[in-house]
Amino acid sequence: MYTYYELREDVCRLCKLGVETGSIGRSVGGKHILYFHLGPKEGGQLIVQGGIHAREWITSLLVTAQVDFLMKEKFPLGVYFLPMTNPDGVTLAQRGAREEAERKRLVKINGGEDFSLWKANLRGVDLNCNFDARWGKGKGNRRKPAPSSYIGESPTSEPETKALVAFTKRVNPLMTVSYHALGREVYYEFFQKGEALERDRALGRSVAEFLGYNLVHGDLGSAGGYKDWCVSALGIPSLTIEIVGEEHAHPLDESDLKGEENNLWIPLLLTKTLANL
Ligand SMILES: [Zn+2]
Repeated sequence: MYTYYELREDVCRLCKLGVETGSIGRSVGGKHILYFHLGPKEGGQLIVQGGIHAREWITSLLVTAQVDFLMKEKFPLGVYFLPMTNPDGVTLAQRGAREEAERKRLVKINGGEDFSLWKANLRGVDLNCNFDARWGKGKGNRRKPAPSSYIGESPTSEPETKALVAFTKRVNPLMTVSYHALGREVYYEFFQKGEALERDRALGRSVAEFLGYNLVHGDLGSAGGYKDWCVSALGIPSLTIEIVGEEHAHPLDESDLKGEENNLWIPLLLTKTLANL
C-alpha cells in the first residue's frame, strides 16, 4: 500500500536530494496536498496530478515514481507533480474509518465497514465532480454524500478542490494531466471546438499511442472534473489517463502497476511536445 505517510517520507527523501517540494493547501481532515517540482521554474509549466479518487491510490504511487524516475532528466519546461490530491479519501480507502468521532457518519454514507471502493473525500464529495465545469450535469451525478459521484453543495465547495483551483490559476500551466484507474484509456474532450479541439486531440493521440491505450472521443457525460475545468475555464489541453487494463478489478494494489512502466516517461514526453508547439 502507498499511504499518505509514505508520500510524506518520499517528500523528505526527495527534498534532501534537491527536489523542490511543498504543499498547495490542506484537505478537510487537515492533511497536506503535497507537490514536487522538476525542471525550470520560469516559463511554461505542466501539472500532473493523481489520487483524486481515493480507491485509485496506485496513481499516487505512479506519480511519485515519475519524480524518482525523471529527477535527473533535463526538462525543457517545468513540471509540478501532485501525487495525492485526496489524501483523506486515500487514507480512508486504505485503512477504513478508524477515528470514533467520524466512524458512524462515514459508515452510514458508505453503507458498510469496507471502504476499499471509496472514491470521495471525507465529506462524501467526489472531488472530480466538484469543479466548476457544467457542475451537476454529469451522467450518474449524485445529490447527497456518497462513496462516489456526489457533486457537493456548490461548485468548488471542498477545500481540496479550492486548493487545486487556486494552485492551477497561480501556476497558469500550459497543460494538465490527471491520473485515474482503470481502463487503459486517454480522455481529452470537453466541449472544446475548432483549433483547441484539434490541438488537444493530437496531444491525446500522442500519449495514447505511446502507451498503447485507447483514445476516447466525446465528452461522454463528464462534468465537474479537473480536466473538464482546465479545458473549459482555462482553455488549455488537459488529459485524463486511465491506467491498468479491464482485466484488473477494484480495489487495485501495487501489483496492478506491472506493465504500466511507460507512464513514467509521460511528463518528460509532454514537456518536450509542448516546448515544440
Ligand atoms: Zn478516477
